[in-house]
Amino acid sequence: MSTSASSPSPRHFLIASDFDQTLSFNDSGAVLSELIGVSRFHEKVSGLARSNLVQQGGELAYLIRHDPEFRGVRSEHLAEAGRRVRLRQDIPALVEFLDRGLEGYRFSFCVISAAPREVIQSALAGIVPPDRIFGTELEYDPATGEVCAVPRVPAGYGKVSVLEEMEARLGTEPERTIYVGDGSSDVHVMLHVNNRDGLTIAVSENKMLARIAKRTVLSDSAFGVVVPILEHIASWRSAEIRALFESYGLSLTGWERARTDRMTVRDAAGGGGEAGFSPLASLAG
Ligand SMILES: [Mg+2]
Repeated sequence: MSTSASSPSPRHFLIASDFDQTLSFNDSGAVLSELIGVSRFHEKVSGLARSNLVQQGGELAYLIRHDPEFRGVRSEHLAEAGRRVRLRQDIPALVEFLDRGLEGYRFSFCVISAAPREVIQSALAGIVPPDRIFGTELEYDPATGEVCAVPRVPAGYGKVSVLEEMEARLGTEPERTIYVGDGSSDVHVMLHVNNRDGLTIAVSENKMLARIAKRTVLSDSAFGVVVPILEHIASWRSAEIRALFESYGLSLTGWERARTDRMTVRDAAGGGGEAGFSPLASLAG
């Protein structure tokens, strides 16, 4: 077919984001535990993580199903925990920007998280449509309301399978997948996205992710991820990006571009301690 005068179809990107500590500040498992009075939640999670019994990020799903202290969890507790989660700023602006797209670019946004689906749907009610939220799926006993099965946990490699399903459903190219996450549950999916030339964005200083993610954005605002997205897909410059933020009523202040090499350097002989060679002291001297 010859090229027609009409504009080409827009490039379609899938933008997938984690939930806990990526779109929120706190961990929904911790919020739920506090709500129902479960003790030592973080200890339980780190014990499970050490054992590698479940995929990283899938600890809460396991506890809900198997820990006696979580037996009292009902779907209404999950919805209430969602309402108590503190969200990052500007998620509505981010969703609006992605929905609107740019000339020549179309975005489909979804949330892929190991948190129970009910928690995320409640936290993002009115912001992200429920059918774009993929969380841990729980089944309830109709008689007691107790959780009786966990059909699916999008944690660790589980996130890769949800992502692949979304790409197949939307018909997007793997290199047009962008994944945003903050923690160890995102390692598999980020390696997978990188491996197929997609873009990975970390929104925390997690050391494991910092080495894997192609970009890192540290901001209280969820809208911050728009910066690497625009630079990556459309090679936008700072001035255009600032203007876009302003068009959403946001101003981009304190924008520091940094590639940080953080280190501690010690005396290799080991015995030197404080008396070791100090280049600063010798320069000053
Ligand atoms: Mg997270």
